[in-house]
Amino acid sequence: MSSQKELLDELLEAVADRPGSIVIFDLDDTLFSTADRHLRILAEFAARIETKDVRAAGLVRAITRSSLRYSILDTAKDHGLDEKLAMELREFWFARFFQNPYLLSDSVIAGGPQYAEEIVKRGGRSFYMTGRDEGMREGTEASLLRHGFPAPDGKGAVLVLKPSFDAPDLAFKNEALRAIEKMGTVAGSFENEPAHVNLFVERFPKGRHFLLETKHSGKPVEPHPAARRIKDFRR
Ligand SMILES: [Mg+2]
Repeated sequence: MSSQKELLDELLEAVADRPGSIVIFDLDDTLFSTADRHLRILAEFAARIETKDVRAAGLVRAITRSSLRYSILDTAKDHGLDEKLAMELREFWFARFFQNPYLLSDSVIAGGPQYAEEIVKRGGRSFYMTGRDEGMREGTEASLLRHGFPAPDGKGAVLVLKPSFDAPDLAFKNEALRAIEKMGTVAGSFENEPAHVNLFVERFPKGRHFLLETKHSGKPVEPHPAARRIKDFRR
C-alpha cells in the first residue's frame, strides 16, 4: 500500500504534467480543523452560565479537543449536560459557529497550506470549495491568508462558497462542479465527507481523490474504494 507521501506526491506530479489542472479542497475538517472554534464557543458558554449554574459550567469546561463530537448536541450529552442546557448550548453555538470572527479561531490540518501552495507552484490551481456560504467570505479569506494558504485571487487559487446558508452541501457541490469542469481538468480533490468524496470519484474517475480521516457528519456512507485515505497533508 502506498504511503501518504507517495499518494500526495503522485497528485503533484499529475498536476505538473498538465498545467492549469484544478485541485479541489474542502475547508472544514479538510484544510481547517474546527476544534478550536468549538472550544472557544464552549469557553464563552461556560463563562455565560457560570453565575447561575457553576456545576454545569464545570461540565462544559471539562470538554476537551479529543472529546468533541461532530454534533454539539452529542458533545453536550456525552459530558452530562441535561436536555435543557444542551439545547441552550446548541442555540448559543449556532449563533456563533458560522460567524466571521469565529472562523479566525480555526487551526490548519498539518501541511495543508504548504500543499495547496505546492499545487500552484507546479502550475496547477487550488480551488477551495466549501459548504460555508457567501456571508462567511470575509472570515474565510482572512483565515486562509493568516495561515499562509495561496490567496484566493481567482487565478492560482479560487474560493467557491455556497450562495445561501440553507442550500444542502452535497447538492451545492454537485452543481458547482458543472461550472468548475468547464474551467479545466480536475486532477484531484480532498474531502472529509465520504459522500462528497464519492461524488468526486464518480464525476472525475481519472482524478486522484482523497478522504481526510479527520471527522465527518456520521452519515452512513461507505467511501469509494478508489478514495485515497490520508490523515493530513504532511509528506
Ligand atoms: Mg468538510
